[in-house]
Amino acid sequence: MYTGEPGAPWAEAIACAGERIVRVGSDRQIERLEGPATRVIAAEGRLVLPGFIDAHVHLIWGFEVGSWIDLTDRPSITEATRRVAEYTRAHPDEEIVIGYGFDYASLLPHGLPSKEDLDEAVRERPVVLLAYDGHTGWGNTAFTERVLAFPGARGSGLGGMQRERATRRPTGIFLRVFDLFSVLPEIRRRRSLEGLKRTVSQASRHGITTAFDIQVELEDLHAYDDLRRTGDLSVRTIAAIHHPRGTPPERYREFAAARDRYRGDWFSVEAVKLYIDGVVETGSAALLEPYATDPASRGTTEYEVEEYRGIVRTLSELGFQVCTHATGDRGARIALDAYEAVGKRAARSDARHRIEHCEVLAREDIPRFASVGVVPCMMPQHASPEFTTRWREALGRERAGAAFPWRSLLSAGASVAFASDWPVAPMDPLGGIHEAVARETQDGAPSPERISVQEAIDGYTRRAAYACRAEATRGTLAPGKYADLLILSDDLFVVSPDRIPTVRVLTTMVGGRVAVSGDPRAPSSETAS
Ligand SMILES: [Zn+2]
Repeated sequence: MYTGEPGAPWAEAIACAGERIVRVGSDRQIERLEGPATRVIAAEGRLVLPGFIDAHVHLIWGFEVGSWIDLTDRPSITEATRRVAEYTRAHPDEEIVIGYGFDYASLLPHGLPSKEDLDEAVRERPVVLLAYDGHTGWGNTAFTERVLAFPGARGSGLGGMQRERATRRPTGIFLRVFDLFSVLPEIRRRRSLEGLKRTVSQASRHGITTAFDIQVELEDLHAYDDLRRTGDLSVRTIAAIHHPRGTPPERYREFAAARDRYRGDWFSVEAVKLYIDGVVETGSAALLEPYATDPASRGTTEYEVEEYRGIVRTLSELGFQVCTHATGDRGARIALDAYEAVGKRAARSDARHRIEHCEVLAREDIPRFASVGVVPCMMPQHASPEFTTRWREALGRERAGAAFPWRSLLSAGASVAFASDWPVAPMDPLGGIHEAVARETQDGAPSPERISVQEAIDGYTRRAAYACRAEATRGTLAPGKYADLLILSDDLFVVSPDRIPTVRVLTTMVGGRVAVSGDPRAPSSETAS
C-alpha cells in the first residue's frame, strides 16, 4: 500500500469510519481496530494507491463526444467527408451535424481547409467538425451562416471565426469552436444527464476518485448536483467555471453565487478557467520566438496583457483560483507575470493559481513556478509521439525536444499536477504514468524529462490534490482524509515500465465504499453500492 505521505509512504492496511480514514499502519496494528463502526481495508499483497485525481478533465463536454461522428481513427479527408454525408442522410432530425476528433496531420495535410470543401459533402444543413483538441472547428457554409445569425455574432469573431485577409469573408474555420457550444441552443439541447452518468462511471473504472472538470459553463453546473442528488455521482467533482472571452464583469457575481451554492464533499466550484493562447498546431499558441513553419508569426493571445491582468486581479480578489490555458512559452510568461503581480492581493493566501498545459516553457521561467507559487497542470499523454507530428513541425526540433519539462519543473521545486485532458487524450491515468516514466526523444532515446514511477503517481494523487486545493481531504492515505483509493492488478513499482499499460484497476473505492469492482477495459463492469 503506497500512501503517498512523504513521511510514511508505505503501509499494509487502513481503518475507516464513515467516509474517512482513521488509522494507517501494519496489518497487526489495524486488524484489532475492526468493529461495528470501523472497517478495515487491507492490501493483501496488492498495490493499493490513493485514488487518482484527474486535475484537468472535460467530463461534461466529453460525454457529448460519444454521440458525434467519430473521426478519431484518423480518416483521410475523402473518408471523413464520406462519413459526414452518410451520417447526415441517416439523421434527418439533427439540426447541426457534428463530427469529432480529426487529427491535424492526417485530415489537413495541406493546412486548414475551407467551408466550400465541406459543402461538397453536405450543403443543406449545418455541419461542423472538431479537431481532437476541441479548439479548431471546420464548418460548412450553412454552419458559418448559422453562427453569423447568432445575436451579436457579426464582427465579434465569435468562436474565433477566421476570415480571408482580403475579402473578410469567413473561411469556415473557427479557432475557439468550444465557445459556440455554450451559446448555440441546438447544441445545448443535446446534453443529457444519462451521458454524464456514463462518463462518470468510466472515470471510476479508471481509478479516478476526484475529477476537476476544468471548463464547465455556468448554466451546466447543476448537472453534477443533479447527479449527486440521484446518488449517481461516483466521482467527487470540482468545477472550474468557463470564462469565455468577452465575459462581462457583472457575470462574476453569478460565478460567486454558484461557488456559494455548490460546496460539498461531492461537488464544489472553486475556480475560473480562461485562455491566454490557443494550440501550437494552428499557430495560435503564443511563443517567444517565431514558429519554425512560419517565421513571421509568434502566435496570438486571447487578451491584451493589461486586460488579462485586470481579469486575473479581479478574480483573485473574489477568492477564485484562476486556471489559465497556456501552451506556448509567451502565454505562460504572461500568466506567470500576472499571477506574480497579484501576489498578496488575492483574497486567499492559498490562491494557488494554475497554468494549464505548459507545453513550451522558457528555461528562465521554470524556477518561477515554485517562487511565485503557481501550479503547472500537465498532460503526459499529450507528449506522446502519436499526438505530436504537426506539433513538432511547428515548433522545430530543439524547442519540441525541450517541451513538456516535467523533470525540470519538479527539480526546480514546482508542484507538477498531472491530468488527462480527456476527451482530448485518453482518460486512463496509467497511460499517463507510462508516458511520464518511459518518455522517449524523437530518436527513440530516453528523454531527459523522464521521472520516477513514484513521482508520476504523486502527480495524479498528492500533487493533483494540491492543484485542486483539496489536499486537506484527498491525495494521500492518511488519518482524517477520505478513504478514496484503488487496488491494482500489478505492482507499478515492480513491473517494467513497458508493462504499465497492461496493469488494470481492480477496485475503486470512494469514501470507503466500492464504486467499481472489475476490469476497467471490459465493456461493462458491475457497479457495487
Ligand atoms: Zn482541456
